[in-house]
Order: sequence, then C-alpha cells, then structure tokens
Amino acid sequence: TAALSIKNLRKTYGNNFEALKGVSLEVQAGDFFAVLGPNGAGKSTTIGIICSLVRKTSGEVKVFGHDIDTDFSAAKQELGIVPQEFNFSQFEKVRDIVLQQGGYYGMPRAQAAERADKYLRKLGLWDKRDTPARMLSGGMKRRLMIARALVHEPRVLILDEPTAGVDIELRRSMWEFLREINAEGTTIILTTHYLEEAESLCRNVAIIDHGEIVQNTSMKSLLKRL
Ligand code: ADP
Ligand code: ADP
Repeated sequence: TAALSIKNLRKTYGNNFEALKGVSLEVQAGDFFAVLGPNGAGKSTTIGIICSLVRKTSGEVKVFGHDIDTDFSAAKQELGIVPQEFNFSQFEKVRDIVLQQGGYYGMPRAQAAERADKYLRKLGLWDKRDTPARMLSGGMKRRLMIARALVHEPRVLILDEPTAGVDIELRRSMWEFLREINAEGTTIILTTHYLEEAESLCRNVAIIDHGEIVQNTSMKSLLKRL
C-alpha cells in the first residue's frame, strides 16, 4: 500500500475559483517526497484537504489505504501535519501544546508526556518548555509544530513549506532532523517553492502549477532535465 494516494482531486472554492483541477499522486512508504510549485499552485489546498481542514469538491485521498472520508480516524492516526500558519492562544506553554495534541490522539497522559519531552529535546526546545508559545521566534514556533505533529509517532509526516522565512542556519538543522526521522522510517512529504530544498532532501518530486501536476519523477531525473 502507498503511504499516500491521491486520485483526481478537485477543489473549487466558494468564489468558483478552481484551485485543484484533478490532482493525482502516489507516495510510497519510506519516501521523502516534495510537492514543488510556485505560490498559488495549490499546495496548501492539497494539504488542507488531506487533513480535512478544507472540503474537497471531488476525488479520493487515502493514507496507508485508509480513505479520509470513510475511515477518518484510522487515517488521522497515520498522519502528522505541520501547517504553514498557526495561531497559539495567549498563554499556552510549549510543552502543554504538545501534550494536548497527545490527548487529541487519545494517548495516555504518561505516554504523551514521555513523547513530548523526547521531541522537545530533539528539536532543541527543552529549555523553552514552560515558555508561552507566542513568545517564541518564528523558527522555534515551526519546530514546536513539528514536535506537536510527531507526538503520536505517525507513519507519515506532511509539512507545508516548513522552512519558509527561516534563516539558513536553522533551515540546515531542520533539514538534518527531517533526514534523521526519514532514515528511521517515517515517510515525509513536504511542499516547497525552493528547488534547493527539494533537491537537498527529497528522492521524488511532483511539480504542481495552477492546480495541476505537471511532472512527477525522481529528483535525479528532474535535475538532469533542468
Ligand atoms: P468552501 O466553502 O467551498 O470550502 P471557503 O468557504 O473555504 O470555500 O472559502 C470562503 C471564502 O473565503 C472564499 O469564497 C473566498 O472569498 C475567501 N478566501 C479565503 N482565502 C482566500 C484566498 N487565499 N484567496 C481568495 N479568497 C479567499
Ligand atoms: P499554494 O499553497 O501553492 O501557495 P494555495 O493552495 O494556498 O496555493 O492556493 C491555491 C489557489 O487557491 C490560490 O490562487 C489561492 O488564492 C486560492 N485560494 C486558496 N484558498 C482559497 C479560498 N479559501 N477561497 C478562494 N480561493 C482560495
């Protein structure tokens, strides 16, 4: 079974704008996959649909064979999502945000605590665990969102433009971390508009433009053609 299978996905927003015009793609288990495309191509819409934040117009999405419409709770357990934008409430503390997410996945408190601490350490946020999240720098907020997405140890991690606006130093350390968890077996799918990011991290790539997949190939053969 594919880690992610998308078939003929369409999205027309309320203003009749066709953001996705029949997107199909398949990501194999263990892959490090890039969805590469310019701003406005439909990347966030696709991710929004996968995590059921955006209602699709038609098409099918399966995560390890679990249809997000008919088998939502099984699909949800397989998925960790790092959105591009996030709003933390005023006083929520870093560690509590990760713990709450464990609760959302039905994890026992002790297990959530153990995982929260593990990922806060791995992502360099241990010292900030009692800090209100809104006081973190942009890069730290992104790392917090990664820790939060990993607390239930999903088999698929999807990140929407994970390093947009992040400085080069932090970008490299985030890349390193993502390579590490991919090497440990997590399937990673990220959207990006930086070719360099896709090139540095990903084995396979789909290029999306104006709501359509225009290429779907290995990173190596894409680079040969450029
Ligand atoms: P649907 O209900 O079909 O899922 P939405 O209700 O989410 O679509 O869209 C609500 C409205 O919000 C849209 O019709 C649009 O006017 C506006 N909107 C929100 N985000 C954007 C955006 N990025 N670009 C253009 N319009 C937007
Ligand atoms: P990307 O993530 O690749 O930048 P998006 O999926 O955010 O692209 O947006 C794809 C297109 O859909 C853009 O033209 C955007 O303006 C439009 N769009 C996004 N959200 C909405 C919405 N809620 N209502 C109407 N149009 C939207």
